[in-house]
Amino acid sequence: MSEELENKFLDLCHKYPTGLTQQMIEVSLGHKMEEIVKVINNLIKQGRLMLIQNSDETTSYKEVNPEDQAKFRGLGVEDFLIYQLIEASSNTGAWTRELKNSSGYQQVQITKILKTLESRKLIKSVKSIQSGRKKVYMLYNMEPSREITGGQLYSDQSYDHQYIQIMKMHIKTFVDNKGAVDLADIITYLRKVAEEATSQSLGPEDIQALVNTVIYDGDIEEMRDTRMGAMLGRRSGILYKPTKTPIPVNNFCNMPCGNCPVFDICSDNGLVSPKRCVYFKQYLEQDDESLDF
Ligand code: SF4
Repeated sequence: MSEELENKFLDLCHKYPTGLTQQMIEVSLGHKMEEIVKVINNLIKQGRLMLIQNSDETTSYKEVNPEDQAKFRGLGVEDFLIYQLIEASSNTGAWTRELKNSSGYQQVQITKILKTLESRKLIKSVKSIQSGRKKVYMLYNMEPSREITGGQLYSDQSYDHQYIQIMKMHIKTFVDNKGAVDLADIITYLRKVAEEATSQSLGPEDIQALVNTVIYDGDIEEMRDTRMGAMLGRRSGILYKPTKTPIPVNNFCNMPCGNCPVFDICSDNGLVSPKRCVYFKQYLEQDDESLDF
């Protein structure tokens, strides 16, 4: 009898893959609720059924994919709720505080649930560059959003300085060789270079950010694109060309005192003084040519 009911229940799950409500179950199965509850509990225990907490505080049930059933086996109602909240946070992830506020559970309980879900590879933690590298949680197979990882210019959520320098050099050389190019040309070229070098693809936002830094470095500059395609709005309207007038370097900006953490207590006769300062000495010992003010 219970096997027959179990099959009927699972057939109903197939029919409603987004979730079965209590009402649907009662109307469609026509069995006593105690019998149905036994079947539900048994399926949850086996990891074949997932609980979904609805916003109106009712519960729905969803069948778990056969390949994920071992991971869900033996999870409790609280585990399912936290999993569901993390699933809803999609590729931006959920902070522990958000999980705490939405579930009403204590911090200790949340930490324990997160550990369980992480150990089962149902969720993962990712450091967010947006929020001081705080951890957010998302489904294990979810690709974190660009806002979380910082895009391809970040490696392990830190700026990848070496990679950025190489890509900037490629942009400068490409613009120098071509004379004048638009962003689409740079994107096509740089994507090819990046894929050959690292098998990673750079997004247009990453490339625009790199182009901007090459402009700030004074190596390339913008000009109006007067070609037909640009006039008709089919191009961005901006071309990049090599800088004719390099930005002069002001060596006053390179003085170590400018960002010295003990500047306020540095004085001629003090414990901290320019006479004793190794950084100031190194600065003064540079070639006269490199100290061109
Ligand atoms: S002289 Fe040296 S210690 Fe004094 S402000 Fe400059 S860098 Fe700092």
